[in-house]
Amino acid sequence: MADVDDKPGSGELIFLEPVFLTKVWGGTRLRDLYGYVLPVDEKVGECLAISARPEGDCIVKRGRFAGMRLSALWTERRDLFGGLQTDTFPLQVKILDAHEDLSVQVHPDEGYAARHNGGGKNECWYVLRAGDAGRVVIGHEAESAREFAGLAREGRWGELLRSVEMREGDSFFIPAGTVHAILAGSLIYEVQQSSDTTYRLFDYDRLDGGAKRQLHVEEALDVVVAPSRPVAVSPVVTVLEGATRTLLTRNDFFTFSRWDVDRAATVPVDAPFLLVSAMEGSGTVNGAEVAAGDHFIVPSGVRELDVTGPLTLMVTGP
Ligand code: ZN
Repeated sequence: MADVDDKPGSGELIFLEPVFLTKVWGGTRLRDLYGYVLPVDEKVGECLAISARPEGDCIVKRGRFAGMRLSALWTERRDLFGGLQTDTFPLQVKILDAHEDLSVQVHPDEGYAARHNGGGKNECWYVLRAGDAGRVVIGHEAESAREFAGLAREGRWGELLRSVEMREGDSFFIPAGTVHAILAGSLIYEVQQSSDTTYRLFDYDRLDGGAKRQLHVEEALDVVVAPSRPVAVSPVVTVLEGATRTLLTRNDFFTFSRWDVDRAATVPVDAPFLLVSAMEGSGTVNGAEVAAGDHFIVPSGVRELDVTGPLTLMVTGP
């Protein structure tokens, strides 16, 4: 843990303005469910809720860092983040509204990404809405990389891809090398390493603005892990006074939990900083008003959060 920053107001929560991205598969639920002000006629697929990436670098909404971008805050005020040493902000939090199926894709690990000008990407999903089909593609049925490549090149996706049941409240850890596709109707809260290196294997031959989106079949075949590893996530529930904390995943890149606060609770902070999204309810966190759809960073030095609910918070630490 870093030294506590004792300057007045140093424990102030840092609220961020999300960035929205239009996608060929996007929908309208981000506006409908969370009241974000979005263009009516656009298919908004992604809410970059906490992001310092070039395609969506969130701006601080208010307080003493108002108007600063998260990337600048990371560079100039590393003390807020416990002095973590990576060059760029290491994590990204998104909400995905899949009105249609997302492409079948895979992300590289650190080693492969480093040799191919990209970033490694492990991700974890929390299911906010499951959609009618209630399924998601994770993994495949091939016994070897060779069998995978053969079936993929012949387009035998029905035989190759593994679809698993998905319900609201489920979570899935998707390690690098896992072929995956989020399917129509799903609303997914996603935590990931801050990287956009995605190798698209199949995009249903659909058109985006008159043209098919680029595929990256060779790279995808290079990085797909075969046979598929199991992906079961076993949440660990801790009951506190007034709150339940559910650990969804802890891996080399992030720790991701859901906190459910009924009326009032004091929850200890056990990470150099936290990325927090309110996804249900409304209340306060350390005196600041918080409602579903709000996203904020808990800076270094804050030892606990006083939460009044009812609030469901998705909480990520490095
Ligand atoms: Zn992905």
